[in-house]
Amino acid sequence: MTPKMQAAVVEAFGQPLKLMEVDRPVAGPGQILVKTEACGVCHTDLHARNGDWPAKPKLPFIPGHEGIGIVTALGAGVTAVKEGDRVGVPWLYSACGHCEYCLQAWETVCAKAEYGGYTKNGGFAEYIVADPNYVAHIPAGLAPTAAAPLICAGITSYKGIKETKARPGEWIVISGIGGLGHLGVQYAKAMGLHVCAVDIDDAKLAHATKLGADAVVNARHPDAVNAVIKVTSGGAHGVLITAPSLPAFQQGVAMTRKIGTCVLVGIPPGDFPTPLFDVVANCITIRGSFVGNRHDMAEALQFAAEGKVKADIELQPLSAINDVFERLSKGEVPSRVVLDFSAR
Ligand code: NAD
Ligand code: ZN
Ligand code: ZN
Repeated sequence: MTPKMQAAVVEAFGQPLKLMEVDRPVAGPGQILVKTEACGVCHTDLHARNGDWPAKPKLPFIPGHEGIGIVTALGAGVTAVKEGDRVGVPWLYSACGHCEYCLQAWETVCAKAEYGGYTKNGGFAEYIVADPNYVAHIPAGLAPTAAAPLICAGITSYKGIKETKARPGEWIVISGIGGLGHLGVQYAKAMGLHVCAVDIDDAKLAHATKLGADAVVNARHPDAVNAVIKVTSGGAHGVLITAPSLPAFQQGVAMTRKIGTCVLVGIPPGDFPTPLFDVVANCITIRGSFVGNRHDMAEALQFAAEGKVKADIELQPLSAINDVFERLSKGEVPSRVVLDFSAR
């Protein structure tokens, strides 16, 4: 009989996930099998469950792209990892390795890229099949539950900060202090930036202060943009928008200093109006940023291995996933929920 595993499966968009026994996957040639120890729950998993984005995953699928686990089986020909290694199975599940973007370490935009927990089954399950060339290598000393948020929330906020080109001593706004943003505040401080945290929730802002933010502004305040311009003496050199909410985007562009860069990483469905004249006349850059490449991953993990960044986690069993999604959709998750597979 085929061995089974427990998994949380999306069978229909917008509906609760179904907890069920499914066949345990097998590592084919060039693949590895990972026994899941922990998997973070990203807001992207919620977008995936809801079918929010133009390119939708094929139903049914198993979400989760912050899965950390131990390699338990190697398919034929695998040499990049060995049995017993601790790895992470990230959003960038695989890419072609040969196109013009892959050759420039921009594998995140490879047309043949596959996405963990989206186009490939992910970590809301006891086992994950992965591509050994694209897994994250978890530094010794980092617990699986601590590492989980870093392989999406961590790398994405870290790379996004780098993409703002803000330099030590300059100001960065981090808009949205949830899973991504609470790590973004810590990366930005570790990178020598002045941080202004922006959120709609005072509790998240109080948390940002504890994590080292130099200033906080509630985005719901009618004068929020001017408050940021005042505290940063003219707008932030870099702005990172992690909020899964459209009003945050127009606001974020307005908080950007002349010749500064506003990096978009939150992906709520829809579009936002761009104040064309201001963007042109102030020479503002607006750019997207999508997770990060494998080198960004190693760097993002190293900050945590050195104790400079630490994810704030709430552990839950896989069986709690629908309740977690409900809270995440209402902004009620303090930082990051991590599904702990040692708790059944
Ligand atoms: P989260 O739910 O943990 O955090 C979102 C935070 O934004 C919350 O603290 C919430 O209070 C705050 N917020 C809501 N509306 C706001 C507003 N108008 N202004 C300021 N803050 C506001 O979500 P997360 O897991 O951090 O993910 C955030 C977004 O980033 C999602 O859209 C997700 O899909 C996206 N994402 C993108 C990438 C990428 O590579 N670009 C990677 C991971 C996640
Ligand atoms: Zn994610
Ligand atoms: Zn490619």
